[in-house]
Amino acid sequence: MATRFKMVATDLLIQTYLTVAERGQINPQQMGDAWDFEFHGGHETGTPFYIRPKDNKATHNLTKFDTHTRDGKPLTYNLQKMANGDHVDAMKSTARDHLYAVVSGNWELLCTVSLRFKSGDRNGEIEQATLAAQAAAALLAATAAAAAPTTRACKSAPTCPGHVPIVRQGKAACDTCWVYQ
Ligand SMILES: [Zn+2]
Repeated sequence: MATRFKMVATDLLIQTYLTVAERGQINPQQMGDAWDFEFHGGHETGTPFYIRPKDNKATHNLTKFDTHTRDGKPLTYNLQKMANGDHVDAMKSTARDHLYAVVSGNWELLCTVSLRFKSGDRNGEIEQATLAAQAAAALLAATAAAAAPTTRACKSAPTCPGHVPIVRQGKAACDTCWVYQ
């Protein structure tokens, strides 16, 4: 099933998958209706988006841009990488130039939208939650490390007020009576 959108801040799909701050970075905004961007369902390799020129009713082999490698890394924008370019080649040159400007100017955002659409990550909530959880875990580990005692009370004699460094292996000397323990 195809899902269409335009690369403008007011587009419903864009509002679903980009944050307000990200939407503010769309430059240039798509103008006119010479084409729609389109996602096809399924977990396609390359996490592609397609170009649907106005009045083009093709049911397959639309012009396609892969946004990610097989390993999930974002691809660099490269006109040579688009498959089935003939649909775009058939567009008026002004519309085509605008398309290229919109794609190249918003390449990172288009990669983000494509990935989030594929994974169902609305507004990057899953991404943000994962980052937040990772940050919280790191903070907890750092706090635990900072709070962990580095010495313990000397056990060599009941009266020694000294302390012994806690070491990972072996023994350490008391800072007062110097008895290894
Ligand atoms: Zn001691």
